[in-house]
Amino acid sequence: MIRTHNCGAIRPEDIGKRVKIAGWVRFSRDHGGVKFIDLADSYGITQVVLDPEAMPPGADIGALSKEIDSLSRESVIAVNGVVRERVPGTEDPRNPTGMVEVLIEDLTVLSRSKPIPFEIAEQKKSFLPNEDLRLKFRYLDLRRAEMIANLRLRHRLVSAARQFFDSEGFMEVETPILTRSTPEGARDFIVPSRTMPGKFYALPQSPQLYKQMLMIGGVDKYYQIARCFRDEDSRADRQPEFTQIDLEMSFVEEKDVQDVVERLLAHIWKSLYGSTVEIPFPRVRYKDAIEKFGTDAPDIRFGLEITEVTEIVADSSYEIFNKIIRKGGIVLGINVRSSLVSSSSSETTQIGRKEVDRLIDWAKQEGIGGLTWMRVTAEGLSSNIVKYFPAEIRQKLIRKMDADIGDLLLFVAGQRTQARRYAGSLRTKLARDLGLLDGKSHQFAWVVDCPLFVRDPLTGNLEPFHHPFVMPVDGYIEESSNVDELKGLSYDIVLDGCEIGSGSIRIHDPVLQKKIFRLLGMSDDEIERKFGFFLEALSYGAPPHGGIALGLDRLVSILVGSETIREVIAFPKNKRFQSPLDDSPAPIEESKLAELELLSLSSMGEEVKKEVQH
Ligand code: ASP
Repeated sequence: MIRTHNCGAIRPEDIGKRVKIAGWVRFSRDHGGVKFIDLADSYGITQVVLDPEAMPPGADIGALSKEIDSLSRESVIAVNGVVRERVPGTEDPRNPTGMVEVLIEDLTVLSRSKPIPFEIAEQKKSFLPNEDLRLKFRYLDLRRAEMIANLRLRHRLVSAARQFFDSEGFMEVETPILTRSTPEGARDFIVPSRTMPGKFYALPQSPQLYKQMLMIGGVDKYYQIARCFRDEDSRADRQPEFTQIDLEMSFVEEKDVQDVVERLLAHIWKSLYGSTVEIPFPRVRYKDAIEKFGTDAPDIRFGLEITEVTEIVADSSYEIFNKIIRKGGIVLGINVRSSLVSSSSSETTQIGRKEVDRLIDWAKQEGIGGLTWMRVTAEGLSSNIVKYFPAEIRQKLIRKMDADIGDLLLFVAGQRTQARRYAGSLRTKLARDLGLLDGKSHQFAWVVDCPLFVRDPLTGNLEPFHHPFVMPVDGYIEESSNVDELKGLSYDIVLDGCEIGSGSIRIHDPVLQKKIFRLLGMSDDEIERKFGFFLEALSYGAPPHGGIALGLDRLVSILVGSETIREVIAFPKNKRFQSPLDDSPAPIEESKLAELELLSLSSMGEEVKKEVQH
């Protein structure tokens, strides 16, 4: 037996017991011949000690001492010894094993470590090396307590989810990784077929079509912890492969799917934190999310709602606004109520002139055009621009923004979508600055009533808002319908202002499905080529069905409070979607390219030609 206890297990009750423990030499020190080692594993740290005075008679203290001196940090050892109480005054009450230590009687070196490239014991973020180095030596990075805790929480979340699904009669079914394209708005990763040269598989952007075909297959309630692949540009906090908690149900309406998701999350909460989550989650209409919160993923834990004031200020002589409005732009205001400022964790009761100037500087850096402000005083609105706003307009502004004495009114202006985005980020910036989120618990919300289509801003082409399989609200589309106004039976789920999932009721009628493909600009030929198999499947009695997918990586990263999803994935790619660990993506030999017929023989060197022909 290599160990009787792990490094986090020994307690004062074990004093006097003979134990074997094994782990990594995280740290060692020598106090005048008494040698201490912090022996670590993913369960904890136990202090082991060589104390010459406490050794049994006849022990070869010199040899043992030499062995300990030879140990590099992160070498793996096994120790045989007796548990004893620590010397009074040297206990570490923060560590569960901190009242005891193991007196070394015998030590075996199981493997030695090269000098480590970065500190593992140190927990402070500022001590971490750059991320690429952490990723290159990810197996060392994973030894850090924080990383192990992240992986453990992720595991516990997934296992709670599995428990829930099982108890609700869901069946876990795996769907293929080598597939035909499943569009989710990104590019496919492509895998060439060697046995059928010139043909390719696509990696699934999601199991969407397969889970729908499972419903046609009568599976009724499906889930999968599913890996998805999307060949996107490396922007924001994305990964080319990521994991979804994917589910699909037959004979359901939106409410049924939402209800399952709410209970799933409540169950996860209960098992992770022992606390309850209030269900049902609040619903925000997509239009309101955009208009009041400036984003389709609103954080509804604080007010600071956005008010459009374009019509009111259009009559002013303030040229900056007027110019934007003439070009079809809009002006949006946020009322930073004085009550918010005084109840926040900041010490002041008013956002002073200096803070306003700082906000303006921030806005400039963010590329937010023309942040302006007005303050409500007993005499009415005051600021360096109020002179451009006649008394009547000022009154209207005060009324529209429900402003009171002491309130600060902030305005941004720009083209419609852009201005809303500006106002949205101003809103979250203010919440952060004013500490409005301090001590707030997590908040889920549904975003409902989403459009069925959007237009590509450059080409004006119709594109699916989610994906092309979403059922239109009415269950049909008439020839006379204005497609820009159509809504889909879809729903997004948002946690603390981050989208963590999206789902919908699906089209189960092949005729309607084909109509949607046509509206999206596909020719019948293209439809047949890409989705013929799926339309065929829909034409053998498809049940009404719907589902959702939750982004597991994002959900876990919000729960552990990490800045990126890379912190909750064991082996992620870096920001450029490379893996410093195994150096992928990597070139492959010409001979392999040739085997796949991705390289013509004529362009190959003689050597390679021989190898291929061989
Ligand atoms: N397949 C969708 C996605 O990956 C989710 C769903 O509609 O269930 O976003």
